[in-house]
Amino acid sequence: LSFKIKAEKGQRVVEILTSYIRKTFDRSTKVLDFHHPHQLLEGIEGFNLELSDQPESLEQILVDCRDTLKYGVRTGHPRFFNQLSTGLDIVGLAGEWLTSTANTNMFTYEIAPVFVLMEQLTLKKMREIVGWPDGEGDGIFSPGGAISNMYSVMIARYKFFPEVKTKGMAAAPRLVLFTSEHSHYSIKKASAALGFGTENLILLNTDERFVLLFNLPAQIIEAKRKGYVPLFVTATAGTTVYGAFDPINEIADICEKYNMWLHVDGAWGGGLLMSRKHRHKLNGVERANSVTWNPHKMMGVPLQCSAILVRERGLLQGCNSMCAGYLFQPDKQYDVTYDTGDKAIQCGRHVDIFKFWLMWKAKVCFYLQTLITNVVPIFSYQPQHTNVCFWYIPPSLRSLPDGEERRQRLHKVAPKIKAMMMESGTTMVGYQPQGDKVNFFRMVISNPAATRSDIDFLVEEIERLGHDL
Ligand SMILES: *Cc1c(COP(=O)(O)O)cnc(C)c1O
Repeated sequence: LSFKIKAEKGQRVVEILTSYIRKTFDRSTKVLDFHHPHQLLEGIEGFNLELSDQPESLEQILVDCRDTLKYGVRTGHPRFFNQLSTGLDIVGLAGEWLTSTANTNMFTYEIAPVFVLMEQLTLKKMREIVGWPDGEGDGIFSPGGAISNMYSVMIARYKFFPEVKTKGMAAAPRLVLFTSEHSHYSIKKASAALGFGTENLILLNTDERFVLLFNLPAQIIEAKRKGYVPLFVTATAGTTVYGAFDPINEIADICEKYNMWLHVDGAWGGGLLMSRKHRHKLNGVERANSVTWNPHKMMGVPLQCSAILVRERGLLQGCNSMCAGYLFQPDKQYDVTYDTGDKAIQCGRHVDIFKFWLMWKAKVCFYLQTLITNVVPIFSYQPQHTNVCFWYIPPSLRSLPDGEERRQRLHKVAPKIKAMMMESGTTMVGYQPQGDKVNFFRMVISNPAATRSDIDFLVEEIERLGHDL
């Protein structure tokens, strides 16, 4: 009987989920039902976050499920433009459900035989697409682009200074890393976490297209003159804010000349490798030593799904392996090279591969055709990617002369509009300042459900909310 009740409740949870999914794609529903933290903490109409000492009724558990979704954000809604990872893909969702049902761990073939092989085959396919001969090389799925980037810095250091693994940074000369001022902050975070120090990450200037400018050789020479050893350059393929693509071939020439590691951060733009029409933006990527590629961004795979691809085999294992005896027994009676877990910095590792593999099987070609080929030409100019950064200038500011007062007032416009937008819950878009630019909206289109009319809606909504500011 208890099993039967559970099965019925399980069925009702499925109904809650399907109703949520249906509403997510319904444009007459809101993107979010915003509440302040204190409101949610106080509890709303029978939904209480506090953990109590008594078990709740199954009815209440169902309410908890429904309201958790109700007060969250519908990131798959066609009018959600707030993040690079958006969308609600049904095949991906099915994959995630199967993954949780299997509830296993990626560290050994022993307990994840099918998933481990899927990961190996998918990584090989991705390396083929990058352009490495026969898909040779190495790689691993990691908890996100930030961690994938951190892997790249770690293995670059291991390649040139393997003794750091055992002796620490004191065993290496003073190392410096280079990246553009518009690269993702995770490179800086990796410099801090791995003991390089953020001051030893040199941020290079960019040109008017926000692409890395060619002061790199001069900076390398300057660093050497000061007694530093230049180790590593990141070229970003699709910067997070502006969607700019650094010229990989030119940077690869410089890295070859100075014997440095070249990492391509394609967390955001890597998806374009799947498009015949747009992959030229990553020309030269096959010359990289490592590549970050996040299928959970442009390819719409549910969070999380990110790969670090490495051209040279063996470095990941060499750099990270600790040979824990309770997991990685060398005398197992199968090919233990499939016990890939010791390449990771994690111990337990979530199965991120299955949903991606399933989506690839189901439709990856179709999907990319619709998304990348339809979204990029929505613009009336020639953008490099699907980022659009813009100011909304309310009528009250339009006649104001360009100057400090106008800047300061304009700086307040986007946060105000965003707050009203959250309250009305109709759409979501991000904003930020950057360098000497006051707060602007950063619109990113990576949601396959979004159409031209949704983008028009966002613009009209900004106008409606901001007109009287
Ligand atoms: C988003 C992003 C990252 C970080 O990826 P996460 O999966 O969020 O950790 C790294 N680099 C670039 C260029 C990005 O846009």
